[in-house]
Amino acid sequence: MGIYTDKRKRTHTPDGYELLLHQSGHLEYDFNWHLGPYWSKFLIEMRDNARFMAVKCDECGNVYIPPRAVCGRCFKEMNEWVEVGPEGVLQGFTIVRFPYINPNNGELMKVPYTAIWVTLDGATTRMMHFSNETDEKNLEVGMRMRAVWAKEPRPTSIHAVEYFEIIK
Ligand SMILES: [Zn+2]
Repeated sequence: MGIYTDKRKRTHTPDGYELLLHQSGHLEYDFNWHLGPYWSKFLIEMRDNARFMAVKCDECGNVYIPPRAVCGRCFKEMNEWVEVGPEGVLQGFTIVRFPYINPNNGELMKVPYTAIWVTLDGATTRMMHFSNETDEKNLEVGMRMRAVWAKEPRPTSIHAVEYFEIIK
């Protein structure tokens, strides 16, 4: 059923065909997604060198991580790479306690986990990641955090950083 009910009560087209409203099933397919030069460099630097590389706008000075080709403020192409982090400031967090299906592997997410927004030292923008701290009493916006890198070989994804931990 759901929250929406079709009140038209029509079950057939004017020429007598049954109206098919819903077809459920399962579909899988393999695909490749080209990340482009900026995200490629970002992920390779994390994987191979355990460092965060951002791009800086030479017009306004904004430092973007994840990196992007064009400044969102000036609309200028950016080519200056700068290293930022690995420490930063917690800008926000959400502790997720409701499990849902992880789109990466089709399994239920292990809860609780903490999604965070962090501004790495030297960066202007916030980056989303995770923290190993799952007790909200220990988290506070403005506190300092540091990246904990995954063991080698690190994956070519944001999970090259395992999580961010509180700097005590
Ligand atoms: Zn700019």
